[in-house]
Amino acid sequence: MMKILNLINGQLVAPVSDTYIDNYNPSTGTIYSLIPDSDERDVENAVAAAKNAFPAWRDMPKEKRSAILIKLSDLIQRDLDKLALAESIDNGKPLWLSKSVDIPRAVSNIHFYATASLHLHDEAYSMGTVAMNYTMRTPLGIAGCISPWNLPLYLFTWKIAPALASGNCVIAKPSEITPMTAFHLAELSIEAGMPAGVLNIIHGYGHKVGAAIVSHKDIPAISFTGGTKTGEDIARVAAPMFKKISLELGGKNPNIIFADCDFEKAVQTTVRSSFSNQGEICLCGSRIFVERSIYEKFKTAFVEEVKKLKVGNPLNDENWIGAIVSKPHMEKILSYVQLAKQEGGTVICGGQQLHPEGEHANGYYIAPTVIEGLTYDCRTNQEEIFGPVVTLMPFDTEEQVLKYANSTTYGLAASVWTQHLTRAHRVVANLQSGIVWINTWLLRDLRTPFGGVKNSGVGREGGFEALKFFTEEKNVCIKL
Ligand code: NAD
Repeated sequence: MMKILNLINGQLVAPVSDTYIDNYNPSTGTIYSLIPDSDERDVENAVAAAKNAFPAWRDMPKEKRSAILIKLSDLIQRDLDKLALAESIDNGKPLWLSKSVDIPRAVSNIHFYATASLHLHDEAYSMGTVAMNYTMRTPLGIAGCISPWNLPLYLFTWKIAPALASGNCVIAKPSEITPMTAFHLAELSIEAGMPAGVLNIIHGYGHKVGAAIVSHKDIPAISFTGGTKTGEDIARVAAPMFKKISLELGGKNPNIIFADCDFEKAVQTTVRSSFSNQGEICLCGSRIFVERSIYEKFKTAFVEEVKKLKVGNPLNDENWIGAIVSKPHMEKILSYVQLAKQEGGTVICGGQQLHPEGEHANGYYIAPTVIEGLTYDCRTNQEEIFGPVVTLMPFDTEEQVLKYANSTTYGLAASVWTQHLTRAHRVVANLQSGIVWINTWLLRDLRTPFGGVKNSGVGREGGFEALKFFTEEKNVCIKL
């Protein structure tokens, strides 16, 4: 069976332990490759390599660093079909989605930061004839980047690209649930001419490899995307060590639909924002609040569209929804459907595991699920489910819907649907959310700050925010 390898010091190597973790294809429920079960010894080797590589990478003209990264993004583009297939097999997401979103976005992430870093400039503050200050930005040294399974290569590159482009060496850990495209990226980084030790990719469990990265004294910055509970564990270790930390965590995002919305667009986009990638996008809206006067009309139109969504083999382009990433995650999602029923909810559609024909019968499929009749503050409406499950709730006033929307501990993203410009601004100003879309969803400009408030995270990624995170400022004052 194919064995994935770590990338350390420019070499593809087996883990020191020489033990492996089973890697499942969620669309069939079968094991199809093996993942290194690495530990602190592999991290230690990577740190040694990164320390060695750092001075030359830091001092390399940024145009040259940029050229290596652009080469890497070109190679991802060249291998788009291969990487998209690998992503779909590993994660269960539809192939058409990997081809049109995940892998193209990985290309853009690397290209964006390869070029953005050329425009990061130092600053000067004149004190007239008295003195001149200049503020320089220098890379931190070694950055730890830890990413989740839902958008594997997309989020992995979103972290490593700004870290590398700003002159850091990186020790990165992809999710042990979806390691395959990070392994292919390791191969491509060698082909792109990335100097040995600059990018190191260690596979394995969070509690072993992740924890070893977070607690390592020579890794001064941790950029993490994943669950809120893991973020809390990481902060508990990294904060007393005074590390820089960027945490992109969970969400329970509201969609607010006013009666004066563009109805068709609101329905169509809400279907996408609810069920894209099996609902496994941190930005998916999972609580849909609809103004009471159009509640029944919206419900009917929405459910009609949801029932049309085909679920099954991710490699078949007819299917809009693929497999849930793992068996434990599927069971967690289904347990929330049971909870919703116990809490008084009515499942209007979906709610059950699906068993497509043939080799996919044992895959992890869930019918897109819509639930109504729940209170805004029940557990189903407060806790992150992270699957193809949404709730519908009517509201009467702006004040009421803001109370509902802001009632969770999360604050990542929100969508507001209204044609009333003043209302849109008024509602948005009072929403506790790091990202808000008005009359759209998931429209992204990579220059904009990305991140959440409350338990959805600390810090911002995107644009110059990420380049600033991976660099440290030093102010120099010269007396004239
Ligand atoms: P997770 O927290 O279980 O794992 C994320 C990564 O952290 C994995 O690589 C894992 O191995 C590692 N990890 C686990 N324990 C660790 C530890 N103690 N120390 C260091 N690393 C550790 O999250 P997941 O289940 O992979 O991803 C789903 C979660 O990610 C959801 O909550 C989702 O909302 C969130 N997410 C957030 C964003 C965002 O931008 N805010 C984006 C995507 C996903």
